Amino acid sequence: MPLPTRGYAVKEAQAPLEPFDFTRRDLGAQDVLIDILYCGVCHSDIHQARNEWGNSIYPMVPGHEIIGRVVRVGSSATRFREGETVGVGVFVDSCRECRNCREGLEQYCERGFVPTYNGYERDGLTPTYGGYSTQIVVDETYVYNIPGGLSLPGAAPLLCAGITTYSPLRYFGAGAGQRVGVVGLGGLGHMGVKFAASFGAEVTVFSTSPTKERDARRLGAHHFVVTREAQNLAPLANSFDLILDTVSAPHDINALLNLLRRDGVLVQVGLPEKPFEVDPFSLPAARRKLAGSNIGSLRETQEMLDYCGAKGIEADVEVIPIQKINEAYERALRGEVRYRFVIDMASLKAETAL
Ligand code: NAP
Ligand code: ZN
Ligand code: ZN
Repeated sequence: MPLPTRGYAVKEAQAPLEPFDFTRRDLGAQDVLIDILYCGVCHSDIHQARNEWGNSIYPMVPGHEIIGRVVRVGSSATRFREGETVGVGVFVDSCRECRNCREGLEQYCERGFVPTYNGYERDGLTPTYGGYSTQIVVDETYVYNIPGGLSLPGAAPLLCAGITTYSPLRYFGAGAGQRVGVVGLGGLGHMGVKFAASFGAEVTVFSTSPTKERDARRLGAHHFVVTREAQNLAPLANSFDLILDTVSAPHDINALLNLLRRDGVLVQVGLPEKPFEVDPFSLPAARRKLAGSNIGSLRETQEMLDYCGAKGIEADVEVIPIQKINEAYERALRGEVRYRFVIDMASLKAETAL
């Protein structure tokens, strides 16, 4: 029997989120049923709710920073028990056969992973609905263990903002002796600062918001640069090993490339709706590299969660009831979030109990 579920959905681009009743599949042998406790609000939710990437499927229930409790496990699922705290991130399945899946890099599945929402299951027909909902059914292979000791709302954003910054900082070797820049102090950026500082790098935040300086330093940054004033960047030319660009809107990428020293790398993780214009001189001038990175694999996401558990790293969050989600989107777009909204799903369950 399909499982009746309440969520919040957008029915078309530009429409607000509103209550939406739908069903989850009943448990398959490998599935776990998760009672959702908290779900983070990622800027990707806003991009997709508003069809800014041009690939939106409606109705859409966003949400891919899910923390919940296992309430039931399928007949041959063995990884989790009832009552355990678990997480679900940006994808809930992948082809499991392509080269990248076989190498344990599911986030780069050549056939496209199955996104937690705004996509289809591997049957290509069944739409996926995300974490702004009371419960979710997921193959246990794509479910993470949440280490004890972390606050549950503070752990939710690790499932996307956390791994999306952890993975490139690890891959490109952020650490002692390295100068690392983090551009944009939002949900991703604030996690990037925490990780880069914890790996021992010298961290500079590049921000359009002068009011965030004190927070940046508290999060672990050593320097803070306001990017709106171009004269602030000139003295920093040719001095960074690695720059993590988390900005969600179109911006001048050449000004950032020029900050890289010889062989430095700019990793773009932000996904603005318009293409970048790269000045042909920016890269060759110092053999610089422009790279990209997409979330992280199953293995690396669990590694990141365990690292956070051991080091006590979690996101700075503002917990909201789901009834405030439309207002939260507007506030996120105005740059008012410090630094991630997280929905308390008790507020949604209260609606269904009425
Ligand atoms: P967010 O919380 O809204 O943060 C984005 C930050 O970018 C803002 O806080 C702001 O920081 C800066 N910013 C915004 N508009 C700007 C502008 N016009 N010019 C310069 N800076 C601007 O968003 P998020 O959730 O961190 O997500 C950031 C981006 O990453 C989004 O595009 C999202 O879709 C993408 N994303 C990618 C992946 C991936 O795997 N690659 C995963 C998750 C999210 P300041 O106030 O400090 O300037
Ligand atoms: Zn996300
Ligand atoms: Zn694959």
